Amino acid sequence: MTQGFDTLQIHAGAHPDPATGARQVPIYQTTAYVFRDADHAAALFNLQEVGYIYSRLTNPTVGALADRIAALEGGAGAVCTSSGHAAQLMALYPLMGPGLNIIASTRLYGGTYTQFTQVFKRFGWEAKFVDFDDPQAVADAIDDNTRAIFCESLANPAGVPTDIPAIAKVASEAGLPLIVDNTSATPYLCNPIAMGATLVVHSTTKYLTGNGTVTGGAVVDSGTFDWSASGKFPSLSEPEPAYHGLKFHEALGGMAYTFYSIAVGLRDLGMTMNPQAAHYTLMGIETLSLRMQKHVQNAQKIAEWLEADPRVESVSYAGLPSSPYHDRAKAVYPKGAGGLFTVALKGGYDACVSLVDKLELFSHVANLGDTRSLIIHSASTTHRQLSPEQREAAGAGDNVVRLSIGTEDPADLIADLDQALS
Ligand SMILES: *Cc1c(COP(=O)(O)O)cnc(C)c1O
Repeated sequence: MTQGFDTLQIHAGAHPDPATGARQVPIYQTTAYVFRDADHAAALFNLQEVGYIYSRLTNPTVGALADRIAALEGGAGAVCTSSGHAAQLMALYPLMGPGLNIIASTRLYGGTYTQFTQVFKRFGWEAKFVDFDDPQAVADAIDDNTRAIFCESLANPAGVPTDIPAIAKVASEAGLPLIVDNTSATPYLCNPIAMGATLVVHSTTKYLTGNGTVTGGAVVDSGTFDWSASGKFPSLSEPEPAYHGLKFHEALGGMAYTFYSIAVGLRDLGMTMNPQAAHYTLMGIETLSLRMQKHVQNAQKIAEWLEADPRVESVSYAGLPSSPYHDRAKAVYPKGAGGLFTVALKGGYDACVSLVDKLELFSHVANLGDTRSLIIHSASTTHRQLSPEQREAAGAGDNVVRLSIGTEDPADLIADLDQALS
């Protein structure tokens, strides 16, 4: 029987330590692991036996977290990485090569947009940006060199709820994997794999850890994509020279992508999560559902208060009936529209800068998904590399601030906003 979310977030991936009986997952602060003998070492290096070799590849503390995130997302396997951005590169690495492209949503975390435009160019990869509110436009942008479709679930910066089932249908008809960045919804509010996504990426830096202590990321694989069907994914379907001609998909089936990501991705790119970071994230993830319920409740209250305030031009939050995305949010994200939204101020750019400077309880930081409430003026920070038109398209115009509502008492947050606005 599969267990419920509240059980999995505490127990999945964790077993009493075989050496000591320790109930909590120990921090295995070690670089290497002693081989039983030369044959054991050779079997591990050949992927004939699963075990620990070196912590750039696998580590028991990091592995417990990967298994927990995979369980919460309903995936076959997961790999943890050093950051969310590392997770994005890790997710694409097995699929991409020079001359190939992805179709990406225009609504993305600012740093992701920069990665997809600047870094991709140096690899010879391309991202074609499309408004994902129009699934036909996504379908039309696909060409013979497209290898993936990429979007966020509750998309930055305004928490716009992507219609994942509609986009998954386009991906499936094109025989392409859909990759969903589920950072701001978390598996508590959204299960992309259940809606047809192939891969899920996370910045575990945000809600999964939940307390602003460590950076990290994860790539979760559904285990259901047929990597051999089209000949478009040779890394997974063709012989891998470094492992004696092993064909990952043929040999490992639903675990092919996860094993490839560890055995080739982490081995060669080295974007490994460290065991201390995994520990902090394991601590945080135990209370994920409790925190997300409170984030959603608080965001709803504060968005309603702001919308009724005469100093406010508008509030973009799919939890509000005034939002054009309200019905979609209720249908696709029934547990809530998340803890992030944007507010446009009547006073424009100057009013935004003054607001962030005068707030006392809200922290002015470039982060989201903390228990603490956070605010940022995207136009002058996270989205400043973008042109004004790109900022508008991304929902980060000059007169807009983004709020990440924490789990404090909502009355205190409202009092802080009220004093700073006046
Ligand atoms: C923060 C964030 C990232 C990048 O993650 P890091 O851990 O900062 O590298 C990617 N996507 C989304 C939606 C994010 O919020």
